[in-house]
Amino acid sequence: MTSSFPSNRSAPSPVYPMRRPIYLDCQSTTPLDPAVLEAMLPYFTEAFGNPASNSHSYGWEAAAAVKLAREQIAAAIHARPEEIVFTSGATEANNLAIKGTAEANLAKGRHMVTLATEHSAVLDPMRYLQTLGFEITALPVEPDGLLDLGKLEAALRDDTVLVSVMAANNEIGVLQPLAEIGAMCRERQILFHTDAAQAIAKIPLDVQAMNISLMSLTAHKVYGPKGIGALYVRRKAPRVQLAPQLHGGGHERGLRSGTLYTPQIVGFAKAVSLGVVQMAVEAERLGSLRDRLHRTLLPLGGIILNGHPSQRLAGNLNLSFEGVDGQALLLALQPTVALSSGSACTSAKMEPSHVLGAIGREAALAYASIRFGLGRFTTETEIDQVAEQVKAAVMALRA
Ligand SMILES: *Cc1c(COP(=O)(O)O)cnc(C)c1O
Repeated sequence: MTSSFPSNRSAPSPVYPMRRPIYLDCQSTTPLDPAVLEAMLPYFTEAFGNPASNSHSYGWEAAAAVKLAREQIAAAIHARPEEIVFTSGATEANNLAIKGTAEANLAKGRHMVTLATEHSAVLDPMRYLQTLGFEITALPVEPDGLLDLGKLEAALRDDTVLVSVMAANNEIGVLQPLAEIGAMCRERQILFHTDAAQAIAKIPLDVQAMNISLMSLTAHKVYGPKGIGALYVRRKAPRVQLAPQLHGGGHERGLRSGTLYTPQIVGFAKAVSLGVVQMAVEAERLGSLRDRLHRTLLPLGGIILNGHPSQRLAGNLNLSFEGVDGQALLLALQPTVALSSGSACTSAKMEPSHVLGAIGREAALAYASIRFGLGRFTTETEIDQVAEQVKAAVMALRA
């Protein structure tokens, strides 16, 4: 695969007159693959029809593109096309999965189980349900970020409606044991939802083998466009009962009304297909770049890896730097490399990440953490440059 970074970094731009920083924030979002853009373009212009218009060729053409995209996305997770519900992204898919199963299964119970390290797009819908009288168990994780299956088993009850555990963590990259969780849920006839926003086309996903009932997907973490995603909803053995959260024209079998966004859907499918084809080779390449970065930084000393050393995404490296202020480090690196830290600005004040808190990092170390998110367009030269910059910045800040 010969890909080049889609934007010309040395081109003059009104915002960045200088060389743009090296992009290492691929767990936040990824650049669109040029091949994805190319696949999308005709559906903005000539092929602009509404896929729901069945009385003319404009509609048929758009409907055919959506049908193919649905088949491609379903195939990537071993689902059937009719089990894919298009949404605006993983946030909406998570909301539909969580609130939709809560509402449709009131007769069974009002208890749900999730992880303390989930994305806010899972935790916040759960908190909302709590205000409506639901009981939520947010399980702790082990120091390596993984769920202890014994703790999950102990948390399951007769009135448990849903278990929601993410496939890959967006901060520390750890991969949860989906197949084992799926088997446990299936045995007890409890629905199993997984937020796979960081996992699709990065690690193998199989809704059959893993006994997954619902899976949230998004395009923009895998070199597709923003604003499009999907919820996989199992229709057989057993069929998932789900209440729609957006009512209207009855699109997507009544589960998500709204005119389908054809160009985004086509781009989403193209991105997923491209990702699946190169998944194994790319994971190997990214894993070795990530390890190279880690290895180069280790001689600095006082570096702590956040998350399991091997059970994690190939493109993620989350490190805490002892004796360094994370904000100062980020600031020092800003001109040369685009990164995220282990803290987030919530309502104008800095708070250490809830994920790093859940794996036992005290606030100081959580503040002093950096997430390196490598991706398809990251090169070895860039990694070596970043390593040098980080080493210099850490030594200067510690001096
Ligand atoms: C990015 C992300 C989301 C949100 O996805 P959107 O498509 O941006 O709404 C949800 N969960 C995880 C784990 C993510 O990484």
